Amino acid sequence: QHVVKMKGVSKIFPNGNVAVDNVDIDIADGEFISFVGPSGCGKSTIFKMISGLVENTTGEIEILGSQVQTAQQKRTDVGFVFQDATLLPWRSVLENVMLPLEFQRMSKVEKREEAERALKLVGLKDYAKSLPRQLSGGMKMRVSIARALVAKPKLLLMDEPFGALDEITRQSLQSELLRIWESQKMTVLFITHNVFEAVYLSTKVAVMTPSPGKIASTVNVSLPFP
Ligand code: ADP
Ligand code: ADP
Repeated sequence: QHVVKMKGVSKIFPNGNVAVDNVDIDIADGEFISFVGPSGCGKSTIFKMISGLVENTTGEIEILGSQVQTAQQKRTDVGFVFQDATLLPWRSVLENVMLPLEFQRMSKVEKREEAERALKLVGLKDYAKSLPRQLSGGMKMRVSIARALVAKPKLLLMDEPFGALDEITRQSLQSELLRIWESQKMTVLFITHNVFEAVYLSTKVAVMTPSPGKIASTVNVSLPFP
């Protein structure tokens, strides 16, 4: 069972930049795969194509059994977390987490309950009424993770989520993420510059080459962590 299938996928931007060059990759259900490589090697572009934000120039992309078609297609089965936890500053933590449920057929009460459940997963249930500016960077990142999880996605894309955090906060969020990944039975695609982070978190590491757009190899990780 493959959650993501890419075959012969390239992205050439209008200015001629080849960001992704003929990539093939199959990602199995339940995998935690990290993409590691230097800045500019095409990691974000791969994620943007998977999410439908950027259209591929060649090749085929299949997500959760269906073809990625147009940009901006609304998907509740894919969650996203980006480097900067962009929260709406004038909305409470709970309202921010509820955003992905906006167009779902659910009562307001159910939406609220789902958002509270997601906040509890990231250890922030006491901060539902806070405003983003009252939170630390690590807490904002937790809110952003809760928002990505609230619609119970089968696939979670994380683009350098912990890059801007201090080491202690990073470590605690790493363990939290592993716990959530195990309990939610989802597939995680994770971008990082940090090889140690990739090896610690992942079942698989995709190593990208410095020249843009190629996956050099994919390595299985099976270290005897407790
Ligand atoms: P990474 O995430 O690994 O840092 P990116 O996917 O952001 O790499 O970028 C890959 C390459 O594509 C880089 O050379 C970058 O400059 C180029 N690129 C990214 N987005 C665009 C764009 N919108 N237009 C032109 N070139 C782009
Ligand atoms: P990162 O390395 O963190 O993935 P970048 O700093 O490479 O991000 O890119 C930030 C944004 O600028 C992205 O949305 C990317 O698509 C865009 N971008 C990157 N390189 C170029 C470029 N050469 N021309 C136009 N847009 C670009």
